[in-house]
This record gives sequence, C-alpha cells and structure tokens, in this order.
Amino acid sequence: MTDTFRALMMVDHEGKPRAEFRQLTLADLPDHEVLVEVAYSTVNYKDGLAVSGKGRIARRLPMVAGIDLAGTVVESRSPDWAPGDKVIVNGWGLSETEWGGYSRFQRLKPHWLARLPGAFSMEQAMAVGTAGYTAALCVLALEDWGTITPGGAEVLVTGAAGGVGSTAIALLSAGGYRVTAATGRPETQDYLAGLGATNFVERAALAEKGGALQKERWGGAVDSVGSTTLANVLAQTVYGGAVAACGLAGGMDLPATVAPHILRSVALLGVDSVMAPQARRDRAWDLLARRLDTAHLASIARTEPLSALPELAADIVAGRIRGRVVIDVN
Ligand code: NDP
Repeated sequence: MTDTFRALMMVDHEGKPRAEFRQLTLADLPDHEVLVEVAYSTVNYKDGLAVSGKGRIARRLPMVAGIDLAGTVVESRSPDWAPGDKVIVNGWGLSETEWGGYSRFQRLKPHWLARLPGAFSMEQAMAVGTAGYTAALCVLALEDWGTITPGGAEVLVTGAAGGVGSTAIALLSAGGYRVTAATGRPETQDYLAGLGATNFVERAALAEKGGALQKERWGGAVDSVGSTTLANVLAQTVYGGAVAACGLAGGMDLPATVAPHILRSVALLGVDSVMAPQARRDRAWDLLARRLDTAHLASIARTEPLSALPELAADIVAGRIRGRVVIDVN
C-alpha cells in the first residue's frame, strides 16, 4: 500500500473554506471500522458548492470533500465487510461532517457502505452517483404516490440537462412515461431527446412568477430547480398529480400558494438522499439497475482526473455541466 496519497481537502483560509490538494497518510484518516481503497468519486451540485467555496457544505475543517465514492474494502473491523468487497457510498454526511470520496483511501462506518450493485461497474455506479440515485428516489416517490401513468399526462423534468434531470428523463422514459424536459440550454435538446424526452419547455417560461392556478398540464414532475420554477410547476400540475422536489439550482425559496394543494389535491413530495434509509436506497438502485440503459449512462457521463475538480466545481455551480462527471481519484 502506498505511504502517501493525494486528497482534495477543504481547509480554513482566513475564516473561509478553501480547496487544496494535500498528501495524506493512512494515519491521517478517521478511525472508522472499514478502510476502502477508492477508485472513483463524482461531481454533484453539492460538491460544486463545497469545492468552489460558494456554499458552506463542510461543517468542520479540515474536511476531505466528495459526497460519493466507489471502491474496494482493504481492511475491516466490522463483521459485515471483508477485504475485497466492492462498495459504494452516497451521502451519509460525507463532505459535511465526515471525510469523503476525493481521496485514494478513506475510512468509513460500516452502515454507510452498500454493496456495488451487480448491474454496474464502479465507474458506472459513480456515473449514477448521488444525482442519479436521487433521480431514482424522485421517480419512486411519484410511482409510489400512484398517479402518473405510462402513456398518460406528461411528466415534467426541470433542470433537465443536469445530473438529476438527465437521469430522471432516462428512468421515466424507460418506464413508458411521456417526458417533457425544461432546460435553459436549447443546444442540449438532441441529447435530451436521446435520453427519451419527447417535448421541451424553455427554462425561462417557468422562471417568471405566474398565477396561483394555471392551465393543468403535468401529470407529475421531478424538480431540481426550486423557487419560482417549482411554484409554477405546482400551479400547472393536473388534479391529483404529484411533484417530487429535490433541488434548489434556481433558489431555495418557494414563492407559492396553497391553491394547487387545496383545490386540486396536488401533492408536493420532498426527496432527501443523504439520510435516506437503506431499504429506500436499495429500491432506488434496483430501479436504476432495471431501467438505466448502459448506452444512456455512457451518453450522460464522462470521466475526469482528481486534478480537474476545482474547475469542474466552478462549472457545475454555473450550470455549465451536461449530465454527470465521474472522478478517477488515482
Ligand atoms: P446540475 O448542476 O448537474 O443540474 C442542475 C440543472 O439545473 C442545470 O443543469 C440547469 O439545467 C438547471 N439550472 C441551473 N441553474 C439554474 C437556475 N438559476 N435556474 C433554473 N435552472 C437552473 O446539478 P445536480 O443535477 O447534481 O443537482 C440538481 C439539484 O438537486 C441541486 O440543487 C442539488 O443540490 C439538488 N440535489 C439534491 C439532493 C437531495 O438529496 N435532495 C441530491 C442531489 C442533488 P438546464 O441547463 O437544463 O436548464
């Protein structure tokens, strides 16, 4: 095993978090039960906020960033895991309160680990990453609610060309739903159509404040944008429909009224991936394994080295990343 290895750490710089590449040893890592040799991590919006310093994600410093990882168990003091096991971690406070995936090695608590799903390689599992697994949680939330129907009223996906949006389109389309993509990047339409979107809406059309109740159009929606966009989506959802909300790429506020909820029985389903219970995670990964075509996954993702992270972080926060970026940490 190597003596020292590279990690991207958030460190304190004059009272503010700043990203720096540091050489670490195994002795520097937290004293958790399972040592994992990390192969791949990824770049999610939250990683972009953390590494660019645009959001205060790390709640203590220094902190190894990266909310996702895929790797191989090297040592384990837990009966649940043995050397050679291939594992993934999504969330569980990595990069916030616990050291994360932008490191060649990491020590982790046993219950954060999940077995690498059989349908995916480690690189593919990180092409899915938290963004893709959150998209699956959103689709599950809508399907469990039970009011979207294959071939029925359109299902809207906002933030369509992003990581959550791209994966949501692929999952919904594979489920037989009619998918409309809301994007601010018209140049991505061919890409989104390739994933299964059959209709398009301009991002700007949803960004302006609209009426409390608008023309009913969406049977359901996956929203990663929040703010006025989410308020408009709720106001345009059909009687009895549901909207799964997971993101805030357009803002944290929600300038809405109760009208769609109390007059049209529209449901707002909140989706969190970080602390989702393992049983829910298993269902989400099972859905991904069944519905996500590997050709679609390949078109969604690209792989970059650890050294590219500062630039990629700035790009994702500025809305310039299409689909997903995998990080090869070696
Ligand atoms: P991406 O940056 O990959 O995608 C976000 C997309 O939102 C962009 O591609 C863009 O889509 C659109 N967008 C960006 N800025 C704006 C804006 N100002 N107004 C309207 N639309 C905008 O991020 P992810 O897909 O990784 O994450 C999306 C959101 O979901 C983030 O807010 C993230 O924090 C959240 N999230 C939440 C999770 C949870 O557990 N609840 C887990 C994972 C993500 P386009 O170019 O097509 O318009």
